[in-house]
Amino acid sequence: MEKIEQIDILQERISRFRSAGKRIGFVPTMGALHEGHLSLLKSAKESCDVVVVSIFVNPTQFNDPSDFEKYPRDLERDQKRLSDSGCDVLFAPSREEMYPCEYKESYDFGKLTEVLEAAYRPGHFDGMATIVKRLLTVVKPDAAFFGEKDFQQLAIVRSLVEKENLKVEIIGCPIVREESGLAMSSRNERLSATEKETATALSQTLFAMADMVGEYSPEELQEWGRSQLENAHGLRLEYLAVVDGTTFSQPQHWSDASEPRALVAAYVGEIRLIDNLKLSPVTENFEAVSNA
Ligand code: AMP
Repeated sequence: MEKIEQIDILQERISRFRSAGKRIGFVPTMGALHEGHLSLLKSAKESCDVVVVSIFVNPTQFNDPSDFEKYPRDLERDQKRLSDSGCDVLFAPSREEMYPCEYKESYDFGKLTEVLEAAYRPGHFDGMATIVKRLLTVVKPDAAFFGEKDFQQLAIVRSLVEKENLKVEIIGCPIVREESGLAMSSRNERLSATEKETATALSQTLFAMADMVGEYSPEELQEWGRSQLENAHGLRLEYLAVVDGTTFSQPQHWSDASEPRALVAAYVGEIRLIDNLKLSPVTENFEAVSNA
């Protein structure tokens, strides 16, 4: 695996791969890599000849500066994990390389940029979409791989690519979970053992909701989920919503939603966690790390 820090060197390597007829896959990350990230690399390797993984902790998508400061970083460990997992190129640019002048575009994708994460993290998606567009423009991959863990982000990236007419296939990959059901996240590293246990209430509630779809209306199910988490000790719920996973509007009846999904965000201690689940029978949804 080659580690590259400069855009011009990366582009020179990529154009060499491209002239050799290789299909280029791209996995953007912020590092502190876990099995969830590696599952994206694995999917990319399955359908592409060359895989580029980027590691860049993007300052403009953090709405809380202390979250940015405390975000886990361990480039050496990440580098080893990537090379052991068959990554071809690690792109690890500096802040100056990615942002020669500090800027953040402003995006309006209707409901997608208004509700849930957008409402609770002002500016987050502008920063995310700005860096994703820049990375896609620099790497120009044939396919880019994103996790459903950040479900709203994935929907925004799809809209971005469509609106900006970027020539890249966006591939969504399933959430990888720990044995406990907790969705893997770089932020889990900052949880104590007790907090980690508390955090499992998120996935447990989502899985219980998926199991009860036939018994309740979307709103009743949402209320049930909220009451579970509002009463969970050590957890501060920001939102739990049942939405149509394509429009992000709230369905009145299950038949109104082509792809019903529950999305949740909550603080455990000072760590903000998110998770989501398609509302269909549980067995269809669970991909534990052991079979990732
Ligand atoms: P991040 O480093 O948190 O920006 O995440 C980089 C990519 O990895 C994003 O597309 C995430 O959605 C994806 N990702 C993060 N955690 C998981 C997970 N547990 N399962 C699958 N994909 C994930």
